[in-house]
Amino acid sequence: MSIKKRKHKELTDSQIKHLKKLSQLDRTDINQRPPKGSALADQSELVHNNTYEPFPLFYVDKLIVCRNCSKNEVWTAENQKWWYEVAKGNIFSEAVKCCKCRKKEKIAKSEARRVHLEGIEKKATSLSRDKSSGH
Ligand SMILES: [Zn+2]
Repeated sequence: MSIKKRKHKELTDSQIKHLKKLSQLDRTDINQRPPKGSALADQSELVHNNTYEPFPLFYVDKLIVCRNCSKNEVWTAENQKWWYEVAKGNIFSEAVKCCKCRKKEKIAKSEARRVHLEGIEKKATSLSRDKSSGH
């Protein structure tokens, strides 16, 4: 199992068909058997979501169309589990961008954050200078 070596291929029609079928499953129905490749949900990890909606019992691979470059990509069951249960993502939030665009965004965000923090730092030093001169 080496994820790194797996080449990123375009989704085939049959894969897309399969993913669409998966998305129609009722994931809150206890009579619904989790399909192959799904990840079981740990509902105790989902209680941080303040909702009266039933939590999913399992996650299935999901087809997403990137909002940015309109590329088809799979949001895997494992990644969803991680996002909702470990990263504590909101249950109503979904991946809307492909891996590549998310990565690009992350870099842009961290760069913006760095610039922002530098700005705060400058402000803070000038503020403390003002205070010490007051009394
Ligand atoms: Zn994209």
